[in-house]
Amino acid sequence: MSEWKTFTHDAAHDGVDPRIAGGRLTVDLDALVENYRLLQRRAAPARVAGVVKADAYGLGASRVSPALWRAGCRTFFVALPQEGIELRAALPQADIYVLNGTFGPEAAPAFAAHRLMPVLGSQADISCWEAFGWNDGGTPRPCAIHVDTGMNRLGLTPEEAHAFAADNALTGALTPRLVMSHLACGDDAGHPLNRRQRESFQAVSRIFDGIESSLSNSAGIFLGPDFAFDLARPGIALYGGQPFDGGDNPMRAVATLEARVVQVRRARAGETASYGAHGVLSRDTVIAVVSTGYADGYHRASSFAGVPLRRAVPAGGHGFVHGRRVPVLGRVTMDLTLFDVTDLGPEGVTVGDWIELFGHNVPVDEAAAAAGTISYEMLTSLGRRYHRRYVGGDG
Ligand SMILES: *Cc1c(COP(=O)(O)O)cnc(C)c1O
Repeated sequence: MSEWKTFTHDAAHDGVDPRIAGGRLTVDLDALVENYRLLQRRAAPARVAGVVKADAYGLGASRVSPALWRAGCRTFFVALPQEGIELRAALPQADIYVLNGTFGPEAAPAFAAHRLMPVLGSQADISCWEAFGWNDGGTPRPCAIHVDTGMNRLGLTPEEAHAFAADNALTGALTPRLVMSHLACGDDAGHPLNRRQRESFQAVSRIFDGIESSLSNSAGIFLGPDFAFDLARPGIALYGGQPFDGGDNPMRAVATLEARVVQVRRARAGETASYGAHGVLSRDTVIAVVSTGYADGYHRASSFAGVPLRRAVPAGGHGFVHGRRVPVLGRVTMDLTLFDVTDLGPEGVTVGDWIELFGHNVPVDEAAAAAGTISYEMLTSLGRRYHRRYVGGDG
């Protein structure tokens, strides 16, 4: 009797046994490391951290983070304490910052137990860490300070940051190791807010003398050396997403998503396909039915017809199979998606083939745009029903 691996949310993240999986996700750790190195060259002499929140943008933080560590990455950012706890198990030595703040006194022991550094982004965070951020020996535990320079999401105002710096210089209550801010429009190189945020952050970083400073996400790294400061914090570019609007994507594709063909069927011109009968066939059509749908994160908005978004963005999603792009037909459903594979000819696609939904041939940014969203959301919505395989990464 063979053993069937079933999905568990375990450290290996390899999901479902490939023989019984409806879709498969391949993560190329060599491409990830190449992306890390490219970002290092662009950001130098600044160091480059890895942003691995949301399970490394859906690709599996327990596999992605050690690959980055082996490439020389020593500093990691997660959003939530729970993510930090999981990352600590994979990387005992890393510096781990938790972006979303302290979560109050009840969460403080979790930070202590796993040596996580909160990014303090409000007066409440500062008070919490002043009260609870102490080692048994009476020394304050390290943290980061987040200063808002135009995002209005998290962070002290520059005025609060000045006041804090002056106070803390006297009391020594906290030992910040990093001062950071976050760009709102880094992907739009011409946006005037970029320069304003950089100037505002420069003034703030000066008052935190001797402490590392960090402003740039993926996009910021491409805005030039003025934006590099001491530490860059890329996420999406590591995972192959296009870091800025327009032009060619300098990053290598890291994630490839493929769906299994479970039926090939023929339909006549004039018939319709999928829910709502919106996919009206203009010709005799060969339909490949794949075992992946919106429950797997292949958004319903990728439908070729019958969803409101198609009025704004005329084309839906495309797959890629045997050297050709093939359009989604009608609505994407929960567990199944239809592709029009007529142009591949009668023997073109057979049951058991795999159709690429994004990867080397359909960039993840394109697949996301067809669903009215961005690569970030496409990757972080990847479902739990895939077989996941990791290639490369020398270990
Ligand atoms: C998510 C995030 C990043 C990484 O952003 P990318 O655009 O994916 O490079 C960096 N800094 C902060 C504060 C973030 O929330």
